[in-house]
Amino acid sequence: MAGDWIKFDICTSDKPEIWAIAEALNIDPDAVVGKLLRVWAWFDQHTEDGIAPISAKSMMDRLTGITGFCDAVIASDWMRDDGISLVLLGFDKHNGKTAKQRINTARRVANHKSRNAGNAESNAPLTQTHQERTCIPRPIRKLVYERDGSACVYCQRKEGEYAAGETRRDGLLSIDHVIPFTRNGSDSLDNLVTCCIPCNSYKSDRTPDEAGLSWPVNQNGKRYGSVSPSVSSALPKEEKRREDNTKKKPAPNGAVSLARFIEANQDSQGRTILITDPIFKYAEETGIPPEYLSLCWRTFVNKYSDNRKKYTDWRAVFRSAVRENWLKLWWIADDGSYQLTTAGKQAKLQQGAAA
Ligand SMILES: [Zn+2]
Repeated sequence: MAGDWIKFDICTSDKPEIWAIAEALNIDPDAVVGKLLRVWAWFDQHTEDGIAPISAKSMMDRLTGITGFCDAVIASDWMRDDGISLVLLGFDKHNGKTAKQRINTARRVANHKSRNAGNAESNAPLTQTHQERTCIPRPIRKLVYERDGSACVYCQRKEGEYAAGETRRDGLLSIDHVIPFTRNGSDSLDNLVTCCIPCNSYKSDRTPDEAGLSWPVNQNGKRYGSVSPSVSSALPKEEKRREDNTKKKPAPNGAVSLARFIEANQDSQGRTILITDPIFKYAEETGIPPEYLSLCWRTFVNKYSDNRKKYTDWRAVFRSAVRENWLKLWWIADDGSYQLTTAGKQAKLQQGAAA
């Protein structure tokens, strides 16, 4: 038993995961938050480390009154079902006695700092979560586990092994993108490896080289690591035609203009960039304000609508545009806040005038 309260970030309600779960279950996002609170509280009261027997899954569905609630949370990557246990990811950062002590201490320090200095640092979030970014389909996950012998490719820890002073969580395996997902690393088998939770946290959004880890190789000695094919191979058809066609590869099938792509890929509410898109997580992690992200999307649409460029996956192109700051709409001030550039202010004014 860890106490009578759990940590709840006030921004939780706006997290893309909440919306994804709400969409999957066709219920109100606020209802998702309420039901999640019940689940988190249950884990806090009944587990030491956020790991429950798999039988807890159907119990949890009854607790929330929705069959499939756990599966929807698993699909959002806030929970994992490894066939034996139900694991609440991020548990040790949000629940549990030590987390609470840490948060209380951090809060006291932050209050003290803001009283004494009033600097921007004290407004920084007290905790961060590190989770796997995407939901890797279970069959792929299984193939990776089998291929890598259910051991961490970086430290060779076998699944389930944990040392004195570590928790059971440290012995769990996760899937690591060798080329980080946030840098266009692909979800394909040649970019995925098994990795223990401590190695995954340590490596974070770095390549093995950047993290000082030995680069994992396949059985032929070839290094793992690949980038998303939708970005790397989606050559515009026009450009291709202009070139001498003796040497290049064919343009990908299904490459379309942005207008066609939007037409064919909107959800029921007219959104092309779906709420589950990894760009929201990227924006959250890098602190890009939501209104700037939406300004960026509208500017992107304006720029490419009357352009002949064709890609198979315009969402991936947009992600690159944001990550690599193609449109130069903002800059980061010394205090870490995002500010619009002249181009950004112009885009905003132009869109305001057009609206
Ligand atoms: Zn490891």
